[in-house]
Amino acid sequence: MSTGKGLIFLGPPGSGKGTQAQELSQELHIPHISTGEMLREAIAKQTPLGQQAQAYVDKGELVPDELLLGLIEERLNEEDAQKGWILDGFPRNVAQAEFLDKLLHKLAKFSEQAINLEVPDDVIIDRLLARGRKDDNEQTIRRRLEVYREKTQPVLDYYRQQDRLSSVDGNRQLPEVTQSLKTVVA
Ligand code: ADP
Repeated sequence: MSTGKGLIFLGPPGSGKGTQAQELSQELHIPHISTGEMLREAIAKQTPLGQQAQAYVDKGELVPDELLLGLIEERLNEEDAQKGWILDGFPRNVAQAEFLDKLLHKLAKFSEQAINLEVPDDVIIDRLLARGRKDDNEQTIRRRLEVYREKTQPVLDYYRQQDRLSSVDGNRQLPEVTQSLKTVVA
């Protein structure tokens, strides 16, 4: 039985996942779940998770799965996530994608769809440098793009092979991208 909409936003750092997820979350009345935001919050509060995650985030490396998987499971079990959600920043490697599939299989009520926001590298670097978050310096950006290619590109293949991947051109004005996303998820 499928009662909820689970949307998985993929795409490189700076592709606009967060901005578009926020927009669609309001439109569809489902929560926007960003692992990057959750980690930044934990780091700001210096919780045990935050303390362990900080060095990885600062370097542009992935935080180890064992720190994140329990967190995402808890979040997806919360009340507001029962009708659906938009995941932004998760899964970021194939092990996380497999974990998510097992978890959702247990919950057995979602039709999930993965969406790839496509943006060329040169545009991404300009966008991230303009954004200026703490982990948006040139060295970290370069590392995050490498990590994206190594670890997250295979996640695109994972969903593509199962016919669960759509692609949207993210290199356009924000409202145009939002419009395409709405069409794709409708
Ligand atoms: P961006 O998409 O711009 O790279 P995010 O806000 O999604 O930024 O993530 C920031 C950082 O948080 C990542 O570089 C990584 O260190 C960590 N992170 C976020 N999500 C995950 C995840 N699913 N697995 C491992 N690390 C993650």
